[in-house]
Amino acid sequence: MHWIIDTMGGMNPPVSSPLTMFRRAILLSCPLCGKRPCTMRRWMGHRDRCPSCGIRWHREHGFELGPIALNVVFTFFTLGVSMVIAFIATAPDFPVATLTISMIAGAIVVPLLYYPFTFLLWQAFDLQAHRPDERELAEARESVAASTD
Ligand SMILES: [Zn+2]
Repeated sequence: MHWIIDTMGGMNPPVSSPLTMFRRAILLSCPLCGKRPCTMRRWMGHRDRCPSCGIRWHREHGFELGPIALNVVFTFFTLGVSMVIAFIATAPDFPVATLTISMIAGAIVVPLLYYPFTFLLWQAFDLQAHRPDERELAEARESVAASTD
C-alpha cells in the first residue's frame, strides 16, 4: 500500500493494489477490506455499507451504470464465445432453433449469474479511480462503530 497524491494535491490514505481489490471482488469479498459479508446481500441485493469496514457502495451519482455496463460487456463476450463454439461443434448442420433458444436463455441467465461479480468489480474500480479520503474512511469507521453499539 502506498499513499496517493490526488488531483487536488492532497494525500489520500493508502488502499490495496488494483489486483488485490479485483481478486477480492471476484471472490465476492469487499474490495476495500477483503471481508465477507460485503455490500452484496444474497445474489442481487446490497447493503448500504460494508458491515466490516463501513465503506458505502453508492459513493457517487450514477454508480449503478458501471456494473450494468460491465455486465453487458461480459455477457456479450460469453454469448459470443458460446455461439462460436456451438457453430464449430455443430457444423455443418446447425440446429438453428436449439441455438436460438439457448442463446435467448443465456441472455437471461448469464447477466444474473454475473451480477454480484460485476457489481463488486466496478466497486473495486471505483475505489481505485476515486480513492476514499480520510473523511470518507472516518465516516465509514463511525458507521461500523455505531452499528456494533
Ligand atoms: Zn469492507
